Amino acid sequence: MAVNIHPDNQPEGYQGSGFFATTFDKAVGLARANSLWPLPFATSCCGIEFMATMASHYDLARFGSERLSFSPRQADLLMVMGTIAKKMGPILRQVYEQMAEPKWVLCMGACASSGGIFDTYSVLQGIDRIIPVDVYIPGCPPRPEQVLDGILKIQELAKNEGRARRTSPEYKALLAQYGLE
Ligand code: SF4
Repeated sequence: MAVNIHPDNQPEGYQGSGFFATTFDKAVGLARANSLWPLPFATSCCGIEFMATMASHYDLARFGSERLSFSPRQADLLMVMGTIAKKMGPILRQVYEQMAEPKWVLCMGACASSGGIFDTYSVLQGIDRIIPVDVYIPGCPPRPEQVLDGILKIQELAKNEGRARRTSPEYKALLAQYGLE
């Protein structure tokens, strides 16, 4: 695995072979990004593409995400894929709320992102009406390559997000928009 971590200025007395100076934020970000535990919230056909992404050909395990979690308390990446009926909205929101920080949300496919072709009274017209989303994957259905691309984008967020972001006023304001704490 290529480790994309930038060393900081070497402090006096801690230079040369055997030393690698970096910041705590960067080390934490690197660990988080390469050990994402996804919770697949799959309701329909996009879930099939996700299964293909997990299988041997595309092999999501290469990115440290082979450990799927069906318990929100042991997951930090909520992957929503498929048509989300309005009746299911409160359940999705409850799953999101049960996940501990830090957490990210990946929205896969047209249905989860906007309701897709189901512009009808019973279908939620995008999950960002009830929970904040970090990355959207377009398509109906998206190909596994697109899912991998979405995961890589989440990894970039996790890598570069300072530990303080989750307690920042901006993040709290975002959650407040959704009535979340
Ligand atoms: S976006 Fe397309 S493939 Fe995905 S759940 Fe909706 S209809 Fe199915």
